Amino acid sequence: MFKFHMPTKVIVGENCVLNNPKDLMLGKSALIVTGKSSGKKSGALDDVIFVLENAKIPYHVYDKVENNPEISDMAQGGRLARECGADFIIAIGGGSPMDAAKAIGVYAVNESGEDGEFKLYDIFKGEYKNKPLPMVAIPTTAGTGSEVTPYSILTLHNEKTKKSFSCVDSFFKVAFLDGRYTVSLPLQVARNTAVDAMCHLIEGYTNKKASPSSDYIALEGLRIIGKHLDALESGSLALDACTELLWASALGGIVISQTGTTIVHSMGYELTYFKDIPHGMANGYLVYEYLKRIDSKRVADCIGALGIESLENFKEYLEKILPRVCNFTEKEILDWSEISIKARNVASCPYQATRELEIEIYKNSLLKE
Ligand code: NAP
Ligand code: ZN
Repeated sequence: MFKFHMPTKVIVGENCVLNNPKDLMLGKSALIVTGKSSGKKSGALDDVIFVLENAKIPYHVYDKVENNPEISDMAQGGRLARECGADFIIAIGGGSPMDAAKAIGVYAVNESGEDGEFKLYDIFKGEYKNKPLPMVAIPTTAGTGSEVTPYSILTLHNEKTKKSFSCVDSFFKVAFLDGRYTVSLPLQVARNTAVDAMCHLIEGYTNKKASPSSDYIALEGLRIIGKHLDALESGSLALDACTELLWASALGGIVISQTGTTIVHSMGYELTYFKDIPHGMANGYLVYEYLKRIDSKRVADCIGALGIESLENFKEYLEKILPRVCNFTEKEILDWSEISIKARNVASCPYQATRELEIEIYKNSLLKE
């Protein structure tokens, strides 16, 4: 038996926001949630404002989302949504603003506070008295697939890590995928995020929870990314390539919505939390050592779909596009493994993941030279 659930309406193509205004407007008053620059630099914010003003829909812009959003900032965003009377949310940006929007959508209608019924960390229970606000997503990076997943990954300083929440209503109602919005990505961000999408597809395909539907989508996503590996390396990504990478990233999101991720992600969160290494880059450092331990034809399927000859060649490719941005110590690795082994997605790993094994993967990935 397997199930397939993907409730988001996905609209793909150039100018899709301008050409489908009704799909953008899920209510009478919008809160636009975006990053400091991603909304503006991508051009998506201008398109959204044009459509809303044309339709005389009032809106408020919250452009304070930081990378790797922190949980208490999300509760503040929720308060803002209440204060400005927003009844729907438009998220514009990479995974950070999209994940932030999902949390803000919950806090907007479930007041969090010391005395209140709903406490800050209750968001992880996944069941809320009031349904989150309906949301639209406009991704400006091609990596997380958050526009089609129910997950929101938040930074928790008290646990020194990142943790995800999800619920049936934290899927976006509509996602607009326009490659024009990712053309402005700095090359290293485009590479990191493409590697994140690759990891979603690979971790989904090699996952204990893989199913015929997720397998089919995962291999197709990897084939699409495979067509653009040279352009990602050289930095010559044309508009067509941007659109295709955005679609492949959404396919990765659809896959992990069915399967979840694996230890690559849970171990990567520590690299992001403690060393500020971008999410996709962190996964890219770890994925080869994860794959090396899988005794199944599935590894060759993934590498073959990417159009790469061998797992060793895949490793070389990742090393070319993902520079080492800092050094690591054994002590750090021991500390991180203690946190990462407690993550939920450890159970989806295709082999028994122990703390000792995670230490070995961290060491081989990070302390090599
Ligand atoms: P991001 O943190 O959203 O953005 C990275 C950087 O790129 C930011 O500085 C951002 O600017 C900039 N940027 C974004 N779009 C741009 C554009 N079109 N032009 C120029 N600059 C642009 O990166 P991300 O990799 O997309 O998202 C990472 C987050 O997503 C992590 O928190 C990760 O845990 C989460 N994630 C979620 C899921 C899920 O299923 N929900 C899956 C994987 C990862 P601004 O600061 O101005 O925005
Ligand atoms: Zn990811």
